Amino acid sequence: MPVNADAKTETSANMEEDTNTDARTLPINELFYSLQGEGKLAGTPSVFIRTSGCNLRCWFCDSYHTSWEPTHAGMTLSEIIDEVESSDANHVVVTGGEPLVHDDVSHLLERLSNAGYHTTVETNGTIFTDTAIDLASISPKLASSTPTAERDPKGEGEWAERHEERRIDIDTLATFVNNYETQLKFVVTDESDMKEIKTLVADVRDAAEVPIHDTDVLLMPEGATRDGLDETRERVAELAMKSGYRYTPRLHVDLWNDAPGT
Ligand code: SF4
Repeated sequence: MPVNADAKTETSANMEEDTNTDARTLPINELFYSLQGEGKLAGTPSVFIRTSGCNLRCWFCDSYHTSWEPTHAGMTLSEIIDEVESSDANHVVVTGGEPLVHDDVSHLLERLSNAGYHTTVETNGTIFTDTAIDLASISPKLASSTPTAERDPKGEGEWAERHEERRIDIDTLATFVNNYETQLKFVVTDESDMKEIKTLVADVRDAAEVPIHDTDVLLMPEGATRDGLDETRERVAELAMKSGYRYTPRLHVDLWNDAPGT
C-alpha cells in the first residue's frame, strides 16, 4: 500500500472489526522511532515494533533477547497502535525475533494498513502469513547461521538440528514472493557466502510464479558495530557489483553504532 497520510481514517466497518481485536496482546521487546537502516526503504523514518520469540536460533543473532533469551512486555494491539500514532511516521516496521510466529501479528498489520500505514515485515521467511504486508523483507538464513556446539552462545548445541531443519523452506519463500512485494536480504561476510546465495535465489526463482529481479536480492555486510562494518563493507560492495545484486547499507550502525533503540 502506498504511503498516504490522508488515509489515516478508518471506515466504520474497519473500526468495528478493529474493536474486536483491541484487547489481543503481543510480546513486545521494544518499540521505537528511528530510520529504516536497511533495504529498499533505507533512510525512511519508521516506527519499529520488535516482537519477542523466534522459531530459529542463529548463533550470531543480533536481537538475542528475542530469540535465545526472550524478554518482553505484553502490549495490547490498542496500546501498540497508540504508540505508533504518537510519532510522525507513515512507515511501520514489524520485526523480531520472528514476528510471524505470533498469530495476532496479522491483526496488528491489518489495523496498521486500515489506518494508512505502509508496513514492512522483517522475517526469516519460514512462516507464510496471509495478511496486510506492503514489503516482505525476507532474510533467509544461510548454513553459516546454524548454532553448532562450538558456536552456540549458550554452549549447549541443543538447537543445531532444529535450526538446520527449519531455516530454509523454498516453497514458503516462493509463496511470499508470489503474494507480496519482497526483498531477499542476505547477511554477507565474504565471497564464500555467494555460492549458497546464488543457488538459493535460483531455487526460489524456479518455484515462484513471478520474477525475482536481481535488484530484489540485497547483499548486506555482516557487522553490528562500525568497527565490524569497516571489515566487510567494501568487500560486500564489490560482491554486489560482481553479481548484479543490490548492496544495502546498515545506516543505523553507521549513524548510531550499536546503541539500543536505533
Ligand atoms: S531468525 Fe533472526 S531473530 Fe531469529 S535467531 Fe535468526 S537472526 Fe535472531
